[in-house]
Amino acid sequence: MLKLRNIQAFYGNIQALKDISMDVKEGEIITLIGANGAGKSTTLMTICGVVPARSGEIIFEGEAINNMPTNQIVALGINQVPEGRHIFPYLTVMENLDMGTFLRKDKDGIKQDLDYVFTLFPRLSERRSQAGGTLSGGEQQMLAISRAIMTRPRLLLLDEPSLGLAPIITRQIFDIIKKINKENNTTIFLVEQNANLALHVADRGYVMENGAITMTDTGKNLLANENVKKAYLGI
Ligand code: ATP
Repeated sequence: MLKLRNIQAFYGNIQALKDISMDVKEGEIITLIGANGAGKSTTLMTICGVVPARSGEIIFEGEAINNMPTNQIVALGINQVPEGRHIFPYLTVMENLDMGTFLRKDKDGIKQDLDYVFTLFPRLSERRSQAGGTLSGGEQQMLAISRAIMTRPRLLLLDEPSLGLAPIITRQIFDIIKKINKENNTTIFLVEQNANLALHVADRGYVMENGAITMTDTGKNLLANENVKKAYLGI
């Protein structure tokens, strides 16, 4: 579904991505794990066209998307839930969800997706008239995921969904991520610092260090890998 080939990306003179290549197959959950500053968020930003790839190629469903403007990439079916959620704090829950539909005209589909997110997150349904900024951290993460679902993405990019959340809320969010993948047939690209959780839900994983991919395997094998255990699982 998505291929990254030899991607290099820079912030000024700093090289954030060093020749990275990855594959995401339709229907799977893949995760990218790594330490702070490894380049995980930059990878997602490069896929979305926010950070330009200086060289290499990004192919989504057979079409080259590097150098494409972000709005066109979103229209093709890729959506990102950014680190820190970035919901609109002064808009209500309902208005935040509406923002996810601005490229859509299929009223019936929008209604169907709204019902779906309110089934996934009944709390949002109860708080639909409340300003986004007054929600708890977990509810804001639910809203950010729901707003992305409202774009009806085929590929959903999630950046650190567990950040700042209590373990019980994190588990709920991860159960929902699995549900969205299975029920809604949405392919998931998950960036996480909580490697243990991420590798448990992911079909396959990539390990990133200093802007380069250093390892890839199934989630199960990475969980059992001695280097991964030492570096990322604290075992
Ligand atoms: P984290 O988990 O802390 O978000 P990450 O793995 O997502 O880390 P990135 O945020 O992609 O890492 O950062 C990769 C490198 O690029 C780091 O060295 C970081 O300091 C640098 N970097 C990221 N954003 C910028 C920016 N806007 N300007 C300059 N350098 C940046």
